[in-house]
Order: sequence, then structure tokens, then C-alpha cells
Amino acid sequence: MTTAHKPKTNWQHGLIVKSSPLHGAGVYTTVPLKKGQRVLEYTGPRITKKQSELLYADSEVTYLFGMDGGKIIIDGFGMAAFVNHSCDPNCETDQIAGRIWIIATQAIKPGEELTYDYNLYDATQGEEAPCYCGGKTCRGTMFSEDEIARLKRASKRKNGKLKKKVA
Ligand SMILES: [Zn+2]
Repeated sequence: MTTAHKPKTNWQHGLIVKSSPLHGAGVYTTVPLKKGQRVLEYTGPRITKKQSELLYADSEVTYLFGMDGGKIIIDGFGMAAFVNHSCDPNCETDQIAGRIWIIATQAIKPGEELTYDYNLYDATQGEEAPCYCGGKTCRGTMFSEDEIARLKRASKRKNGKLKKKVA
């Protein structure tokens, strides 16, 4: 028994990071996971919204996760930052006692990729976050329903007329 090689990040027993057909790298389980199981904590330094804007103003890809209703941002550093988005996910996130957990919403078999719905928010006008999850319920974007509605309202104000509905 040794703790000499104890990893600094939260690499979890039974979970691996490998390339994903969804996007870049993804997190896979090699062990069965139970519905309701806390799978992985979203770890990383806590920063303010303002700090995150300064740090990542020009970044296309970030691993930021808003908690406390967006007042605090986790600058993702660890395995959870690799979990991909899906519109038909097998996990969800929940804030429990000041920590963000990725929790299985169904039984997950070994070999399956873990996903949760990013529900992205705080987009700047014109910004896009296309989703290619290919799920039956795919909404074509990783933005949340609320954010899609907000962006539509914003663009209406800007254009002064109704935007054509895109099928
Ligand atoms: Zn999708």
C-alpha cells in the first residue's frame, strides 16, 4: 500500500477517459453504475463570473460550470470536465452541500459513455454551440431551453420583428 502516486485530480476507479464519437474525449465506465449513484464530482477552483470572463474571453472551449445560480463558477479541472453533452443523457448534475456531482439517472453498463445535458447559458448574441448527439430528442444545440428562448427574445428586440421559425 502506497499513497505516493495518489492522483491530484479526482480520477475515479472504474472510469476512463478516451476518444468519443460525440466530441473529442469522453468519460466511459468500465463498471456497472446504479441509477441515482454519485458518479463523479465536478472539481476545480471556484472563481467569480467576472474572473471567468477575464480568463476565457477569447476561448472557444471552456470547462466552466456555474453553481449557486451562476454566482460562482467552477473552472473545471478533473475527470468530470471531460464528460460530454447529450440531449438524451444518462446522467444529470446536482449541487449538494456546495459541491457539484454528476449522478447516474439510469443504470449504466460497462463500456457506455457518461453524458449529461450541459444546458449552456450566458451566450453572447450570435454565439453557437451545435449539438451532434444524434439523439431522437436532440435540440441541435447545447444551450438550455431557457437560453434558446432568451436568445430568441434578444434577437427579436434587435431586429424589431419576428424571426422566422426554423424547422
Ligand atoms: Zn443533441
